[in-house]
Amino acid sequence: MIIDSHVHLYMDDFAADLDEVIARAQAANVHKFIIPGVDKAAFEPMMNVVRRYPGLCFPCVGLHPTDVRHDWQNEIEFVESQLKKKGFVAVGETGLDLHHSKDFITEQCLAFETQMHLSVQYDLPLIIHVREAFDLLFDVLDKVKGLPLRGVFHAFSGTTEIFNCIRQYGHFKIGVGGVVTFKNAELANVVKNSELSDIILETDAPWLAPVPFRGRRNESSYLSHIATKVAELKGCTKEEVEEAATYNTIRLFSI
Ligand SMILES: [Zn+2]
Repeated sequence: MIIDSHVHLYMDDFAADLDEVIARAQAANVHKFIIPGVDKAAFEPMMNVVRRYPGLCFPCVGLHPTDVRHDWQNEIEFVESQLKKKGFVAVGETGLDLHHSKDFITEQCLAFETQMHLSVQYDLPLIIHVREAFDLLFDVLDKVKGLPLRGVFHAFSGTTEIFNCIRQYGHFKIGVGGVVTFKNAELANVVKNSELSDIILETDAPWLAPVPFRGRRNESSYLSHIATKVAELKGCTKEEVEEAATYNTIRLFSI
C-alpha cells in the first residue's frame, strides 16, 4: 500500500471526477490520502470529501502561509476550535511563503509560531510549507527551539545542508513529490543524500504533476512515478521505497 501524504482532493479541479480519481489511485495501490487544511473557507469542502470516503481520507487543520492576512488570529482561533474536537492527523499546512507575497511577513511568522505551539499542545505532527523563506524559517525555529517538534517539510525546496540544519530542531521528514522528476531538481540531490527513513511520498495534487505529466493536473495515481524516480536515485527497488515511505507516513501521522 502507498499513501499520498499531501493531496488537496477538495479543490474544484477534482469536483467533476473525484470518484474516478480515487478509483485510479486505488488501482495504483494508493489507499490512503492525507488532506492538508489551508484556511477556514476550505474546511467544509475538505470535510465533505473526508465524509464521502470514510477510512480513506485523513484531514488536517491549519492556516497556510499564503492565506495569512490581517485576520490571521481569527483563522488560528478556528484552527484551535477544530483541534479541540479531535479527528485530525496533523496541524497544517503552515509555514512561510515569500514567493507569492511579502505583504504579511510578520503575520506569517506569528501564525507559524503559534501553530508549532498548537502541534505540541495537541500532540500532532506539523505539515510545513516553506517557499523562498529559509532564512526567515530559522529565525522562527530559533524562537521555538526546545519544543518537541515533529512533522514534514512538504514539497521540500531546500538543499541537503538546509535539511541538516532543520533536523536539529525536531524530528522532520522530507515530503518528496513530482518535483523530484524534474530536470536539474535540487530535490533529487537531497533525496540522494538522504536515508529512506527520512522520506515520505506526496503528490500535492492538483499541483506539481511528475514527469511525464508535468504541467497537467496532478493526481494520487501518479505517486508510483515519484517512487520510481526515488528508487533510481537511491539505487534500490521501487517496492523498497514504497514500503519505507508508507512505514514513515503511518508512524508520523499515527494512521
Ligand atoms: Zn499543499
